[in-house]
Amino acid sequence: MGLAQQQLMAELEDRLGAGRLLCEEEDRRKYGRDETEDLQFDPDLVVLPSSTAEVAAVLELAARERIPVTPRGAGTGLSGGALPVRGGWVLSVERLNRIRRLDRENLVVEAEAGVVLGDLQRRLADEGLFYPPDPASRDSCLLGGTIAENSAGPRSCKYGPTRKWVLGLEAVLADGRIFRTGGDSRKNVAGYDLTQLLIGSEGTLAVVTAATLALRSQPTVRVSVALPFPDLAEAAGAVSRIFRLGFEPAACELLERRAIELVARHLDVPAQLSSCEASLFLELDGNDRDELLEAASELAEALGGSTDLEPIVALDESDQRRLWQIREGIAPAIKAHSSYKEADTVVPRSALADLIRAARRIAADEHLEAVAYGHAGDGNLHVNLLRGALAEDEWATRRARAERLLFEAVADLGGTVTGEHGIGWTQREYLPLVCGPTTLELMAAVKSAFDPAGILNPGKIFQES
Ligand SMILES: Cc1cc2nc3c(=O)[nH]c(=O)nc-3n(C[C@H](O)[C@H](O)[C@H](O)COP(=O)(O)OP(=O)(O)OC[C@H]3O[C@@H](n4cnc5c(N)ncnc54)[C@H](O)[C@@H]3O)c2cc1C
Repeated sequence: MGLAQQQLMAELEDRLGAGRLLCEEEDRRKYGRDETEDLQFDPDLVVLPSSTAEVAAVLELAARERIPVTPRGAGTGLSGGALPVRGGWVLSVERLNRIRRLDRENLVVEAEAGVVLGDLQRRLADEGLFYPPDPASRDSCLLGGTIAENSAGPRSCKYGPTRKWVLGLEAVLADGRIFRTGGDSRKNVAGYDLTQLLIGSEGTLAVVTAATLALRSQPTVRVSVALPFPDLAEAAGAVSRIFRLGFEPAACELLERRAIELVARHLDVPAQLSSCEASLFLELDGNDRDELLEAASELAEALGGSTDLEPIVALDESDQRRLWQIREGIAPAIKAHSSYKEADTVVPRSALADLIRAARRIAADEHLEAVAYGHAGDGNLHVNLLRGALAEDEWATRRARAERLLFEAVADLGGTVTGEHGIGWTQREYLPLVCGPTTLELMAAVKSAFDPAGILNPGKIFQES
């Protein structure tokens, strides 16, 4: 380490105190990867501030020295967003982990960016309160990461993604200035909506240090229904019908046959689900058990009426858990089966069957297998391209070709190239498929208004020309 570097470290330590800088190789490697397959970009230094003022101090110094800074939550991201692809510092918010205040009267909570999402939700649930965003990674990902990615999960079908629940933010600009957006009120049209602009901005505009979130009361009853279909197109078509018929499921997930076959290697799967071409997993929630049961049977009748395959209606908690474990078991089952690349596709609900057909055709042409499953109620399917027995170089070429063709098909179907995993580092080349040149220019202008020196999470979202 050169003298200038040593002086900078000393200055940082002066601002933050001892034990806040990690520069050993082992630590830099740990913070140089996330959950995106096969990527490793080690930072020069990992910085662990524990307050908003300390985040500001770090950024002020980085700006002065023109050092790239990559914000990081728990590193569970799936598009390489938290990786320091241009070197410099990783700024982890993991130590900003306080729930600052809970306003029970107005159903509002203010929490710091480093709070683990699941911990926050359990703490709220103890008081009968509900913060709905439910990414499957909720027991590890941090609130700030979910805001930066606008994360969602099955219940986004009824409750929407993270952005529906964020009323205000506290954040720090790339030059170290602290600012607040929004507030506690449910309505706010005072000026441009910078809260919504920051949500989903993937750490490229500012470091989020705290968020004010809207809450609601917990639904007291849930009923889960699994509907097996003999035909994929019928299952996909049923998704639009559910909403046209006026049902409002909390979750509506589609699992195609191959996804269930792979899970069945690890978990018990009821016979009617393993023998059908596709299933819909639905959750209804509310406060009146009889009403929900009636809705569940109407749903099963309206959608599953054309098949002999019996729907499964799960009322008690353990039966529901068993059902949803099948859904949650798909990603690990795919991982255990083969190398894979997951495409986070979104199309209008009515195009779901076309999307799956296109994915199968494109994959077959490249000697790959496609397995689709996910948040069908939002038109958001995770299409996994599986390597099977292909050699490494052939897999790399065929996967890249198939992925591009798949996203082109998605764009042609009126969809988009990510629903919840973000553009980050890995999806940059696909953004122009769904954003025209003027839209991209506006986005670039926004980036330079927030971060004119380009030091905050450089290399992400946009392809450099
Ligand atoms: C097993 C598994 C299941 C998953 N399931 C889902 C799912 O169901 N739904 C879903 O949406 N996602 C899912 N994900 C993806 C991932 O968990 C989410 O994107 C999550 O919100 C990322 O949070 P994180 O704290 O890990 O962020 P990181 O991965 O650390 O960072 C993600 C991005 O946010 C930025 N960032 C992080 N913190 C801040 C901050 N405080 N201020 C500004 N920028 C910041 C980073 O720079 C980066 O660009 C899953 C991931 C895994 C591994």
